[in-house]
Amino acid sequence: MIGDIMAVSRLRMATDGKGISTLVAFFGCPLHCKYCANECCHEGIGSLLGTPRVAYKPEELIKVLRKDEIYYLMTGGGVVFGGGEPLLQSAFIHEVCKLAVPGWKKRIETSLNVPWSCVEPLLYDLDEWIIDVKDINNTIYNKYTGMDNENVLRNLLAMRDIVPLEKMHIRIPYIAGFNTPDDVEKSVEWLRDTLYVEPEVFSYQVFSHMAKEEKKESKLEIPKFLMKTDKDSEQVP
Ligand code: SF4
Repeated sequence: MIGDIMAVSRLRMATDGKGISTLVAFFGCPLHCKYCANECCHEGIGSLLGTPRVAYKPEELIKVLRKDEIYYLMTGGGVVFGGGEPLLQSAFIHEVCKLAVPGWKKRIETSLNVPWSCVEPLLYDLDEWIIDVKDINNTIYNKYTGMDNENVLRNLLAMRDIVPLEKMHIRIPYIAGFNTPDDVEKSVEWLRDTLYVEPEVFSYQVFSHMAKEEKKESKLEIPKFLMKTDKDSEQVP
């Protein structure tokens, strides 16, 4: 079994949960978010910052992760599976988790917009699920991602009775030009009432080249405080 990996980024701090982590970013994503900063995750488009496509076996990836083990154990960090959509390769991630040293934290950054069969293998493996729900309103969700959010809602409801709430870190973004503060509040209320969690609200960063395209299409104004230049290094999840 191999993982189709776009990039392995070591010694990350304050970007992917607590402590010092290694981000393992996978190719492939079912969504096409308008402000995606990782367009290269869609197969055939190219590689991230010139990183060649890498196929790792689980034990090969563990060797890379072990290099920073001391930092994981000292800071409460570990490995973060991201992408793209890492759940598309959950069987591979399950094998990596089985080989991981006890004490490493294992986290995933996901949209959860995958069939339940992709979620199931990891239900008991992970210490934290960082879930970007985007918007509960399907019209907004579809306009922004090109997909319906039926999978997301169904998976959240199924996970509610299995995954401890303290392991669920749910995020709701303000998406300039697509949802409003009222829409964000509606999503927050749905999550509070249905899952009994308090989601984190944040704003997507909009890079100047993305904003130009979006404004051309939608004629919507993007607030200046959300605009970033293409030189900014932060990525939209
Ligand atoms: S932002 Fe994330 S979920 Fe959206 S298309 Fe890009 S990689 Fe996929």
